[in-house]
Formats: sequence, structure tokens, C-alpha cells
Amino acid sequence: MKKIAILGSTGSIGTQTLDIVRDNPDLEVVGLAAGSNIELIEKQVREFKPRLVSLQSEKACEELKIRLADMDVEIIPGMEGLIAIAEMEESEIMVTAIVGMIGIRPTIAAINKGKDIALANKETLVTAGHIIMKLAAEKGVSILPVDSEHSAIFQSIHGENKDRISKLIITASGGPFRGKSREELKNVSLEDALKHPNWSMGSKITIDSSTLVNKGLEVMEAKWLFDMDLDKIQVVVHPQSIIHSMVEFVDGGIMAQLGAPDMRLPIQYALFYPDRRPMSGKRVDFYELGSITFEKPDMDTFKGLRLAMRAAKAGGSMPTVFNAANEKAVSLFLNKKIRFLEITEIIERCMDAHKIIENPDIDSILATEQETYEMISKKYM
Ligand code: NAD
Ligand code: MG
Repeated sequence: MKKIAILGSTGSIGTQTLDIVRDNPDLEVVGLAAGSNIELIEKQVREFKPRLVSLQSEKACEELKIRLADMDVEIIPGMEGLIAIAEMEESEIMVTAIVGMIGIRPTIAAINKGKDIALANKETLVTAGHIIMKLAAEKGVSILPVDSEHSAIFQSIHGENKDRISKLIITASGGPFRGKSREELKNVSLEDALKHPNWSMGSKITIDSSTLVNKGLEVMEAKWLFDMDLDKIQVVVHPQSIIHSMVEFVDGGIMAQLGAPDMRLPIQYALFYPDRRPMSGKRVDFYELGSITFEKPDMDTFKGLRLAMRAAKAGGSMPTVFNAANEKAVSLFLNKKIRFLEITEIIERCMDAHKIIENPDIDSILATEQETYEMISKKYM
């Protein structure tokens, strides 16, 4: 029996993780955390019977306690709950399917207790990768990628000598606005931005995909996960999302992982690595597919990727500013407070104003996050 805890169980990755649990009776859920979806977490608790549960607010936890009065479950709100779940004695692996930098502290808590991490929550690595990867190595903990591109790279390097990698090639769908000009992007709506061509995901990452910020976050995520220099990471637009990413080796050989776009595969691979379990679902039919294509990303139109590369090269606290400004800007866009192109304008303005802190510790990272939020709040809220 493998015991797992899930942060963000009511979201897109969280619910798909529970689909995997349903299909694999040797997985047991011991802890679940979510934001505010009381209805769904109640159902999940009744079905999977975790010992510990958390919702964001005290009020939500009180309501959940009343609803679950007949169940033997402990409920702890907020960050305290997230950390308690991360540190649960019985859990072996934690799936970080929460959105944003809020995942930093619980991820560190779990690593400190020796839990392996199935990592979907890329914002954590983008902002605190230098701390998390070092700590994981010290504690002998595996950080197993759930993000499809990183899982593809992870699968492609399995059994290979890592010193012989010459390049990571991260594929990108290009998002719903691929091929559009900046002029055309001026008035795109929230609804248009939420229409991802190939993947059904949470709203924040769907917007990140439409700005190409997501691909920028993924470049930084790959840098930390695979200890790779930025100049050895290339982004290639591949609109069909069949090749999930590739690795080029020193002899020019390229390994790739392909499959239908379905996040259950990378989640399941992370949970059972190095085994592969059977999985139902759509298979790639090459006759039906016919062709797949590749393009260079348009970084002039989609400034999100260019700004991410700038933040990654600058290093220190700059990726935190990039990420925090994006988190806040996307939330403003989701609430229809700003227009689409303002997302990257906000990120750029925050980055221009920031004085880099080298090698920031967790407190400086979280302080930088707060300063970035305040800078944006002053102007927009
Ligand atoms: P989502 O919005 O669908 O779900 C997020 C989950 O986190 C929900 O359960 C929500 O209740 C919970 N949550 C949010 N704020 C919280 C808080 N303050 N306290 C406790 N719980 C909170 O998001 P998602 O699409 O599943 O993405 C989750 C993470 O995985 C993100 O970092 C995303 O970048 C990454 N990721 C997602 C996909 C995908 O296909 N959805 C693919 C690759 C990577
Ligand atoms: Mg991805």
C-alpha cells in the first residue's frame, strides 16, 4: 500500500490524481487539502477516508466539520492544515496540486519529513528551486515531475547518463492565441483566453498558457528539476501537443515522449515511478493524426516568455517577482479588472522596479512576493 497526501485535491490535477487512486487499489489517501470547495471535498472524504483534511478558511472548516460529523477525520484550516498534511507520519508521497507560491512552505515541510514529492505546483520551484532541490538532495527525497513536459523529459532520460544531455526541448501548444498579432490581442476576452486548444486545466494555468507565461515558468522549472543551464533549454511550439517534450544527447540523438494529451499519465508515472501501470484512455492514432508541426515561439507578441527568460537569467529574487506579479495580474484578469495585454505589462513594470536579492531565503522570497503584490494593489485595486 502506498500512502499519499494531496494538496489541491478539488482542482484539475487533484481530481485526476484521485481518478488514478480509484484505478489503483494499492494507493491509499491519508490527507487532502483544498481551497474552498466544501461540497467536493466532503464527497472526497466520504469516498477516500483520509485521516486529515484542510480547507483554506476557518469558516469553511467549521462547515465541513458539521457535514462530516459522522466521520472520523481531523480538519485543520489554512497554512497550519497544509503543513500538518505535509508532515503526516504515515504519508510517503505528497502530490502538490495547489496553485501558486502558497505551496512553498508545505513542500519544504514535507521534504524535511522525508516525503517524496509528485510536483505539479511549478510556482514553488520557480521561486524557491534553489532551496527545494538542495534540501531534497540532502534528505534523499525524490522530486517527481507531474507537469507533462517535465514528465516527458524525465521519461526520456530514464536509464541515460545525465552528463550526456546536450539540450532539453520543451514543447508548447502556443495556446489559444497562437498566430495572432499584438493588435489582435488588445481586445481578446477572458472567455477567449480560457479556451485552451488541447488541455482542460485550472483557470490560472489556462491563462498562463495563453500568455506563454506558463512556458516561461516551465523553462525555470526544468532548470531546477534537471539542473540544466538556461542556454541548454529550448522552447518549440508544437500545436498538436502529441510530443510532450524531448531531450537531445551529445551524439545528436533525440529521445521524446509522445501520447494523447492526458494529465493522468504523468500523474500516474510520478506515483509509480519507475513502474508503468496500465491506463485506459485515448491512444495516439498516427493514421488519423497525419502530421505534426513545429514553430519558433513568437516572443515579441507573447512577451510572457521573453520576460520569463529575462527573470531566469537575472536569477536571485527576480523569478519571484515575475511569478508573483503574474499570479496577481492573472487574478485581476480573471476578475475582469484588467485587459489581456496588461498581464505582461504589469509583470514587466514590477520587474523593472525590483532590486535583485541574490540567493534569497524563504523569508525574502515571501517578502518579495508581498512587495510585488503591494506594488500592483496600489495601482489596480
Ligand atoms: P486548479 O485551480 O484546478 O486547482 C487548484 C487546487 O488548489 C484546488 O483544489 C484549490 O481548491 C486548491 N487551492 C487553491 N488555493 C488554495 C489555498 N490557499 N489553500 C489550499 N488549497 C488551495 O489548478 P490546477 O490546474 O489543478 O493546477 C495546480 C498546479 O498544477 C498549478 O501549479 C499548475 O501550474 C500545475 N499544473 C497543472 C496542470 C493541469 O493540467 N491542470 C498541468 C501542469 C501543471
Ligand atoms: Mg506543462
